[in-house]
Amino acid sequence: MNKKLLWEQILSGLSKRIGRQNILVLFKDSIIVECEHQVMKVAFPTFMSHNYYKQKYTALLLQCAQEVLPEVKSIVSEIQGGLKDNDHPDKADLKLVDEDGEKRTHRKVPNKQEVIMEDGIRSKMFNPKYTLSSFIPGNDNRLAHAACLAVGSKPGGIYNPLFLYGGVGLGKTHLLQGTGLEILKNFANKNVVYMTSERFINEIIEAIGKKHTRSFKDRYRKVDCLIVDDIQFFGNKASSQQEFFHTFNELYDAGKQIILSSDRPPRELDQLEDRLKSRFGMGMVVEVVVPDYETRIAILHKKSQELQILVDPEVVEFIAYNVKSSIRELEGILVKVYAESQLTQSTPTIRSVSEAIRKLNHQHQVQDVHFPQDNKQLSVRTSEDVIDLVSSYYKLTKSDLLGEVRRKDIMVPRQVCMFLIRNILDHSYETIGEYFGGRNHTTVLHSCNKILEQLKTDSRILRDVNALKKEIGL
Ligand code: ADP
Ligand code: MG
Repeated sequence: MNKKLLWEQILSGLSKRIGRQNILVLFKDSIIVECEHQVMKVAFPTFMSHNYYKQKYTALLLQCAQEVLPEVKSIVSEIQGGLKDNDHPDKADLKLVDEDGEKRTHRKVPNKQEVIMEDGIRSKMFNPKYTLSSFIPGNDNRLAHAACLAVGSKPGGIYNPLFLYGGVGLGKTHLLQGTGLEILKNFANKNVVYMTSERFINEIIEAIGKKHTRSFKDRYRKVDCLIVDDIQFFGNKASSQQEFFHTFNELYDAGKQIILSSDRPPRELDQLEDRLKSRFGMGMVVEVVVPDYETRIAILHKKSQELQILVDPEVVEFIAYNVKSSIRELEGILVKVYAESQLTQSTPTIRSVSEAIRKLNHQHQVQDVHFPQDNKQLSVRTSEDVIDLVSSYYKLTKSDLLGEVRRKDIMVPRQVCMFLIRNILDHSYETIGEYFGGRNHTTVLHSCNKILEQLKTDSRILRDVNALKKEIGL
């Protein structure tokens, strides 16, 4: 986000707490100088405004900054005399900084990250970073992304309800919020409500409790798009499900958009009544899956750009290769490795990354190379097959590969070849030694161990071995 826009958003939040007038006076001509490594630096034009900020508003400003940019951990400030007279491009347009947002239908509630709409309906605030354009669809999530875009430009159309499901940390919330933001971008006056299923259930229970209030579904009549995240937590309370069923029908019949997410497809939501399951499956049901390796690399590149951090492409590839269960984790590793490298004043290396992965997640081993036991499907049967494959992969002659030449560009392929024969075909070290001109079994053992070690630190070898494995059909 650009600094001007960011500052306007933060000051808008602050203005709701301390009043617009104070903002106009105290924050006039101030700017965000930079925002790096979780530290935001702001500058004031005069000693007085700076002093005022330091005495009264440090905590509040930090809080408002975090509402817009949760990763900000602290704010530092300074005086820049020049700001008073120049037209600095990062200055906020204070006319845009609004206090109570009377023009809009939404009213922000301090600290709650929620907006209260007419009729007391509460919606969680959208994370401005979760847009559809910042989501990288890759090959695997193209359909989900396209469905979200379609809903964004034509809510209440054919993809209704839109139901996304898939494992944790794969981007469901991002897509749901992105779709909500897209609808708001295209139709500024639509009422888009986003909430988690727990929140939604609480609202229902509250409404049932207050018998005198209008029925729940009537309250939601003004909503144009209802987004409920993680409905696997919906619970099995019959009365809540009934209310939801009515609300769903009411909205659906009125051509309003409904968007839902869950960790599993509708039919597997065991606690839900059948009629709800079948409603949920009525529109578009798409699975969100783990993106492939190339897409994971693209996501990491994007994330490092966002964080303005430089990571060696080899290290990026290594992370992408090893962290594949969740994109949240993928991002987590990147941030952690970067933070560590800041502390130690060194660049992230493959070694530091594999440490970080190990620490963060004990159950998943850094992938050396995994060889499944069931090798029936393989395209290689004999040591000859493997030797052919490896020599053509490295563009070496067979006699070079099997011979005595001790050049690195030949030795490494030779060791890789031994390693593959050992692991895929399970031939003994002695036998492998014989294939390679009668070498001693300890030499073979040493070569295999060496490759095993290097797989942890050398991404080129990792890449070669994996490419070879792929060709073999593993
Ligand atoms: P879920 O709701 O499925 O558990 P989230 O939507 O919270 O997952 O995603 C976790 C993190 O991964 C978020 O920061 C999100 O922006 C990011 N993310 C996931 N998939 C992608 C993608 N394809 N492109 C960009 N960012 C992604
Ligand atoms: Mg989520």
